[in-house]
Amino acid sequence: MAKTDDKQVRCSFCGKTQGQVDRMIAGRGAYICNECVNLCGEILGESFVPVQKQSRDEYVETLQTLPKPMDIHKILDDYVVGQEQAKVALSVAVYNHYKRIYYGGEVDTELQKSNILLLGPTGCGKTLFAQTLAKMLNVPFAIADATTLTEAGYVGDDVENILLRLLQAADFDVERAQHGIIYIDELDKIGRKSENTSITRDVSGEGVQQALLKILEGTVANVPPQGGRKHPHQEFIQIDTTNILFICGGAFEGIDKIIENRMDKKSMGFGAEIVSKKQRDVSKILSEVQSHDLMKFGIIPELIGRIPVIVPLQSLKREDIIRILTEPKNAITKQYQALLQYDGVTLEFEPDALGAIADKAIELEIGARGLRSIMEKLMMNVMYEVPSDKKIEKVVITKGAVLGECEPTIVRRKKAKIDPDVVDAS
Ligand code: ADP
Repeated sequence: MAKTDDKQVRCSFCGKTQGQVDRMIAGRGAYICNECVNLCGEILGESFVPVQKQSRDEYVETLQTLPKPMDIHKILDDYVVGQEQAKVALSVAVYNHYKRIYYGGEVDTELQKSNILLLGPTGCGKTLFAQTLAKMLNVPFAIADATTLTEAGYVGDDVENILLRLLQAADFDVERAQHGIIYIDELDKIGRKSENTSITRDVSGEGVQQALLKILEGTVANVPPQGGRKHPHQEFIQIDTTNILFICGGAFEGIDKIIENRMDKKSMGFGAEIVSKKQRDVSKILSEVQSHDLMKFGIIPELIGRIPVIVPLQSLKREDIIRILTEPKNAITKQYQALLQYDGVTLEFEPDALGAIADKAIELEIGARGLRSIMEKLMMNVMYEVPSDKKIEKVVITKGAVLGECEPTIVRRKKAKIDPDVVDAS
């Protein structure tokens, strides 16, 4: 660590202090000054290619290769199961966002930024959507948890630290970071406790919302390259957040009742259909969400105004979870099959075993999020045994194995397989 006791930032290579050089760049637990960067460039000689900033022409080129909403939808299909309504809404929103960036200066009408709110239960694919979009568009991506944020002046994570994470994901290329995507999880958890603010101001909720509002609407933020709290005498990196796409997510537990109340007021009367609690389809109710409901939930109107695209996601059904296990490009069963393939072993999942895994995940009530740990537990012994037993040809995961009633079925060859790594010298 190049910080000395006198709290001076020093270059980890030459030891010079911040005051002795023109620029100091911070990495993970280390610093480098502009002089050492130049020196490194010379050492690397011709093979050194400095990071180029994207030119206007290149932007236009990027736009030409920018996938159209239907293309985005198709790519999302490879990774995300179901959530059709969300796929359409997100494809359009993301396409428009990048069109706005790349064409923005060329039209008279100012195209306003449309940040996105994904609303749906835990483990239904909110983070996955944001991640997949960033990967597809090849833009830097960062995830932040709204509950760890505090308004400036309070103990906790400054809102600017979210930008630092994006900057790190962009290898400190400010230009790239400024076109990145930030996913802010658990926005619902910073809702103020009551809609009426005049009596008590809820610092943890509304203060953070105010702080978020600034970066969401577009500002030039001062980001401390070393992270942590801001302090004077520190060099800041300036990031313009105007073109950063913010995707917020939250389960908004209980908002279904707010929506229902609003709709009931309109539709109640003689002959109104009385739906029992059991018959309530929460996903269907959520699909009717409007910004006013979010306000009632405790999100300040200014922030709602900055997140105009509200996308409700469905809770996953048993058949969705079975598809998630097997269909996406990097589906979890495919990952285990690939792992065992390295040992020349075939891995099979019987259909009712997949159903039993889905049932277990549903019991946990964390959507598809629990699948990884269920599978890890299920596969542990197999993964332990297979590499040392050259006779194993095939492993079959049965329903009984998932339920813990028996071990997975192991099929062995008559003769041990020849290890390709061992060369026969005879
Ligand atoms: P959340 O909605 O809580 O952000 P995540 O997106 O983090 O949920 O989902 C957790 C994991 O579950 C993902 O990494 C992914 O493997 C799986 N998953 C959840 N929903 C889907 C989906 N609709 N399609 C494919 N995989 C999903």
